[in-house]
Amino acid sequence: MKAAVFHAPGKITCDTVEDPKIEDQNDIILKVTSTAICGSDLHMYSGGMPQLKPMVMGHEFMGIVEDVGKNITHIQVGDRVVVPFPIACGGCYFCEHDLPSACENSNTDHYGPEGGILTEKGGGMFGYTDLYGGYSGGQAQYVRVPYANFGPRKVPENLTDEQVLFLTDIFPTGYTGVMWGDLKGGETVAIFGAGPVGSMSVKSAILHNAKKVIVIDTLQYRLDQIKKLTGCETILWESAQQTVEEIRNLTDGRGADLCIDAVGFEPERNLLDKAKAVLNFEKGSIKVLEACMSGVRRGGFVSVLGVYPVNYDNFRLGQIFDKGITMKAGQSPVHAIINKLLKYVETGQVTLDDIITHRLSLDEVAKGYEIFHKKEDGCVKVVLDPWI
Ligand code: NAD
Ligand code: ZN
Ligand code: ZN
Repeated sequence: MKAAVFHAPGKITCDTVEDPKIEDQNDIILKVTSTAICGSDLHMYSGGMPQLKPMVMGHEFMGIVEDVGKNITHIQVGDRVVVPFPIACGGCYFCEHDLPSACENSNTDHYGPEGGILTEKGGGMFGYTDLYGGYSGGQAQYVRVPYANFGPRKVPENLTDEQVLFLTDIFPTGYTGVMWGDLKGGETVAIFGAGPVGSMSVKSAILHNAKKVIVIDTLQYRLDQIKKLTGCETILWESAQQTVEEIRNLTDGRGADLCIDAVGFEPERNLLDKAKAVLNFEKGSIKVLEACMSGVRRGGFVSVLGVYPVNYDNFRLGQIFDKGITMKAGQSPVHAIINKLLKYVETGQVTLDDIITHRLSLDEVAKGYEIFHKKEDGCVKVVLDPWI
């Protein structure tokens, strides 16, 4: 079959690889009909997330069930499903406590003690480095989906792939950032990042009846897109200082009730060679997270959706304490909220496909990564069709 294979930072190509097979009786094989490139994939592409051997990429995908293991009872061959990006068993302590992205049975230790960064076991993901379980991803014609009684969800036939594809990751992720902010209605939400995740947070803040939604980005074209789609306010980031001042000006000097970081750790952008790939953990900045801490009001909430793969010295704990900030970070618990979010799509309360700017074939995957990484050609979200 055809698949998007990671070889090295900056090198993801469409290759011919072996078809996946059922390996466990709780697996299914999915024929992928649509798949997308995520900002998280860019951490591998840019070398921020190290991967030393080839891997089939992709954790945002949907398709038709092609084959099922003997234990599969919830779905059958021919069903059309979307698949949450975390791999989760459905039966462990974490899965039973609505924390599927911490599932104990989908991954082993991230690092040994000498690595010193992440030590707890848990949290497997499709196509996202050996650190996340080494599973092959769904930017391919077929993918093996483990624990398939728990993950895949059937979608109504009257909805197109593009209408439901983002239920796999970016809509639940954007929604989670808002959900963590404990909104009651009438609040001001400042969202850093007008990429796919930030855009989904905007839509989710509107679903939560936020009074004012402010979006911040360094790229004017992305701010223009989300403003046109939702009517949100926008701030073009020139510096942290100027951004925080503008947020205060829009909030009677108090700061936003909720700040969402949909940007993450910014590694140096030019580290696209293998030798430097691991080293760029040391480089980069947390300036967006710091701006969230300064831009939020006293007693407010900060949700961190953007990925931070490292520890960081001089983290402003004093500011968090002084202002009484509640901060929550991590992966979205997709399995726990996806059914509710599908209802929003079905009833037309939210539209997800309007952020797509590029539709490419899987053969064109190298180009897709390049324009999404470089933010070229007005690119916001790339969807790939493995069969054209
Ligand atoms: P993206 O790269 O398209 O979007 C990031 C946006 O941040 C870009 O528009 C960029 O211009 C903007 N940006 C950069 N510097 C900025 C600054 N100083 N101020 C404001 N904006 C700035 O990626 P995406 O797909 O939207 O993903 C965003 C982040 O969310 C990534 O780190 C990704 O790994 C992460 N993510 C997390 C989860 C989760 O479960 N927590 C799920 C999916 C993605
Ligand atoms: Zn993702
Ligand atoms: Zn589990």
